[in-house]
Amino acid sequence: MALKASGKVLDAMVRCGWRAQSTSAQLAAASQKSQPGIGYNFELTDQQKEFQATARKFAREEIVPLAPQYDKTGEYPVPLIKRAWELGLMNTHIPESCGGLGLTSFDSCLITEELAYGCTGVQTAIEANSLGQMPVIIAGNEEQQKKYLGRMTEEPMMCAYCVTEPGAGSDVAGLKTKAEKKGNEYIINGQKMWITNGGKANWYFLLARTNPDPKVSAGKAFTGFIVEANTPGIQLGRKELNMGQRCSDTRGIVFEDVRVPAENVLLEEGAGFKIAMGAFDKTRPPVAAGAVGLAQRALDEATKYSLERKTFGKPIAEHQAVSFMLAEMAMKVELARMAYQRSAWETDVGRRNTYFASIAKAYAGDIANQVATDAVQIFGGNGFNSEYPVEKLMRDAKIYQIYEGTAQIQRIVIAREHLGKFKV
Ligand SMILES: Cc1cc2nc3c(=O)[nH]c(=O)nc-3n(C[C@H](O)[C@H](O)[C@H](O)COP(=O)(O)OP(=O)(O)OC[C@H]3O[C@@H](n4cnc5c(N)ncnc54)[C@H](O)[C@@H]3O)c2cc1C
Repeated sequence: MALKASGKVLDAMVRCGWRAQSTSAQLAAASQKSQPGIGYNFELTDQQKEFQATARKFAREEIVPLAPQYDKTGEYPVPLIKRAWELGLMNTHIPESCGGLGLTSFDSCLITEELAYGCTGVQTAIEANSLGQMPVIIAGNEEQQKKYLGRMTEEPMMCAYCVTEPGAGSDVAGLKTKAEKKGNEYIINGQKMWITNGGKANWYFLLARTNPDPKVSAGKAFTGFIVEANTPGIQLGRKELNMGQRCSDTRGIVFEDVRVPAENVLLEEGAGFKIAMGAFDKTRPPVAAGAVGLAQRALDEATKYSLERKTFGKPIAEHQAVSFMLAEMAMKVELARMAYQRSAWETDVGRRNTYFASIAKAYAGDIANQVATDAVQIFGGNGFNSEYPVEKLMRDAKIYQIYEGTAQIQRIVIAREHLGKFKV
């Protein structure tokens, strides 16, 4: 069956009552009872299977064939993004009150994994919308949400999360962009770097320092703003030429005397750092899901190849050294999937998931790199060549250990959370 040409397929599914099966409150209530299939449960609901199947069909039939060309040209994948939007595979967590689907993190992650299987450049462009939107979802007031999230449900549109700067990435508190209040406006000056969707966004979430006193803690010194991308004073840098995920748009952006109305402050002046960091608890599970999608693709490609390629009179899959590599790859993919699903589930039932989100992000990022590298190895010389799919996967995988908190930063978070349990 071909996917519907237009119309939000997932929207229709959601309106048909899937929510009855999986609201946070019901999940939480259900987890208290011991019924068969409830509690630890590895079976997806029918609705979740449909989300997954829709995303899988789109990724395999429409993204996979175009991915090599987008990788070569670096062109932004506009037709694929429009199509994902039409199918309801984008902006999945925008609340229903703003016209969105309001999917759980778990359900959104299932979709993300499938999109990533097709091409993580496309998936990152789509996922960066969720990253940009998340501060507005967790901290925006009703008007801000209706205005900025609502418009994204009316037409395909991008947004971006502007936090990193040339001199401050992991050390977010070191950022230098400042915002000064003048009457009913803030004047923003500074420079952001590595902003995904930077040149395509309709609006930005931006973090700036509002309290110049260096003694004031990060938790009070920064403010989160929503900034319209067409505001005078915004200058876009060139599209960066990255190692992988090349069709995703990454840029530096300069903000020079950019005037933002005070009504675009999220929550209140000084609350920005917590908002920007709080968003990661919601966005790290899908980043991990993206890494799993890539790893699954690498495993599948390597497995198919190993069954076709013959050396010494038999398929290379029959050499134990190769089959054990495939077994190791499969173990990693399965465990990383469980990690992202656990971290998504934790936030869906309303629990603080910082520990699980960092475990999922760190582990999935690491294994995506290991599995993609092993896939190249199994392809031999062909693996090193761009006519075969796995060299792209190896290049694309690297970023999962860098963005949304590097592999090292995740370990700092995990260690802090772990040790915290032992301290009174
Ligand atoms: C393709 C791409 C897309 C991106 N998209 C976005 C986006 O949309 N929005 C956004 O705001 N940012 C984005 N980023 C930025 C990304 O989040 C940062 O690059 C990342 O957080 C690392 O920061 P950095 O590059 O400044 O490295 P640094 O912070 O300078 O780190 C350099 C190295 O030192 C290590 N290190 C740093 N501090 C410590 C420590 N305390 N202990 C141990 N090791 C440490 C790091 O792990 C890393 O290995 C993107 C980056 C890329 C490359």
